[in-house]
Amino acid sequence: MNEGGCLCGGVRFAYEGGATPIQFCHAKRCQRASGSAFQPEMAVAADGFRWLQGEDQVEIYEAPLLREPPALRRAFCRVCGSPVPVVREGQPWVALLAGSLDGDPERRGFRHIFLSQSAAWYEVPDDELKHYEERPPAAERLRWRKPEGG
Ligand SMILES: [Zn+2]
Repeated sequence: MNEGGCLCGGVRFAYEGGATPIQFCHAKRCQRASGSAFQPEMAVAADGFRWLQGEDQVEIYEAPLLREPPALRRAFCRVCGSPVPVVREGQPWVALLAGSLDGDPERRGFRHIFLSQSAAWYEVPDDELKHYEERPPAAERLRWRKPEGG
């Protein structure tokens, strides 16, 4: 069981079951949304996710579509503004940012994406992770899937 929450503690959530490794998104939109150089994004199984408290103080913002669906959706705590998990009706995964978790998700970074937009003031590490200048191909989108036969 992994738990997380927002800065003020009003919103709390938990998940268990599957989770993807973490991708570092350097897109300008993610820089704006976080005030940082990149967002550490991961996806967890929707059927293992639940709000522990504060779901009623979660606000949603849908950024207009730039190129192709899905549009960028942000979910955040109305009180403290922290990003919280993004739950979409009918999707088998929930997107969240690793920094909102209390502890170690036992997942690690596996790729950098949208490096063509990376911040001038941040030096992208010359690491062993996959580096993408733009969005990865559709087949490699970050989403958690049930294992075959699972
Ligand atoms: Zn809060």
